[in-house]
Amino acid sequence: MKVLVLNCGSSSLKYQLINMNTEEVLAKGVAERIGIEDAFVKHEAIGKDKVIIEENMGTHKSAIRIVLDCLVHPQHGAIKEMNEIAAVGHRVVHGGEKFAQSVIINDEVKKTLEECSELAPLHNPPNLMGIYACEEILPNVPMVGVFDTAFHQTMPKSSYLYALPYELYDKYKIRRYGFHGTSHKYVAMKAAEVLGKPIEELKMVTCHLGNGASVAAVDGGKSVDTSMGFTPLEGLVMGTRCGDIDPAIVTFIMEKEHISSSDVNNIMNKKSGVLGISGVSNDFRDIEGAAASGNERAQLALDVYYKRVKKYIGAYAAEMGGLDAVIFTAGLGENSPETREEVCNNLDFLGIKIDAGKNKVRGKETIVSTEDSKVKVLLIPTNEELMIARETKELLK
Ligand code: ADP
Repeated sequence: MKVLVLNCGSSSLKYQLINMNTEEVLAKGVAERIGIEDAFVKHEAIGKDKVIIEENMGTHKSAIRIVLDCLVHPQHGAIKEMNEIAAVGHRVVHGGEKFAQSVIINDEVKKTLEECSELAPLHNPPNLMGIYACEEILPNVPMVGVFDTAFHQTMPKSSYLYALPYELYDKYKIRRYGFHGTSHKYVAMKAAEVLGKPIEELKMVTCHLGNGASVAAVDGGKSVDTSMGFTPLEGLVMGTRCGDIDPAIVTFIMEKEHISSSDVNNIMNKKSGVLGISGVSNDFRDIEGAAASGNERAQLALDVYYKRVKKYIGAYAAEMGGLDAVIFTAGLGENSPETREEVCNNLDFLGIKIDAGKNKVRGKETIVSTEDSKVKVLLIPTNEELMIARETKELLK
């Protein structure tokens, strides 16, 4: 069974074709600058040369057509015919309170997703565009929606409710939803496998540290709390997002700077985080480099960042009443030994002891804590595409 996994953003579309009998990736790529000039598709069928197709594409539909042409191309394709694609798995950012699991996409699901768009105005509309485009181009191929929010729907109300007037929750569904759920679920399952223990017996904190970043408390395989909230802005310090701040700062800045709500939103989402503190970059490679050559604000950005992750690990250990494993994943979590070390530093009292030697790795599934560390620390590379393909296969069985 071959599953096409699609992740449609506002002007980009990432894809992978996965053979689900073996879980091997057959082809992958990205279409960029959809609806803008100088659009292109970067495509790679595994074992063949990479190709770049420069062709303007006004819509997601035209991008998907080019991607499908690439997949069946006699030289750089991965399959002979389009009908080898048995299903399409779509990444959908926001499933609101309606979707606690992945679903087969039908008319009712599409209608509900349209309703959820209000909660994720930047993400859900392009996800839906991808769904509508596939429906037209691959009319008889079943589609599954896999939600970033679904894994966190197991959170108890005491974790997801904000201390605002209750009517605001009733009226607008203002609550914590959490994101990166597909990744948190994948690495939690994988970690249990690596530790050789049933997931039901484990209390874990999963740290997805990429450009966007979030932490989840996973108790017995279920998400019981997570740091991102109503939107992905809450929680950890990120590349350009501020994470937790005193909410009173929002109106204070608006009044002082005479700016609108969308301006302040832009500051908190695009100009804050480690970029905002360091003034250097939103990329940790640049910031680690600048800090190493003595840039104090770059070092300060890193220190604020590490401390926030550490705080959440402590908070979630307390919330779960114990801790068996801490998992690091995503761009920074997988590739920065320094981040893992600084975050775990001084946590011996919780039973966390990182092994400096073992920790000198990148992008490899491995345990990086000492033999006698009560809490295991693991590096687990995330694989959201595979998780989406697995859920798609599972639902269509
Ligand atoms: P997203 O999917 O959210 O865009 P990723 O999970 O790919 O992000 O993470 C990207 C981030 O990971 C980069 O912005 C960079 O800060 C960080 N990163 C990637 N590789 C390294 C590295 N070798 N050292 C330090 N940070 C890295």
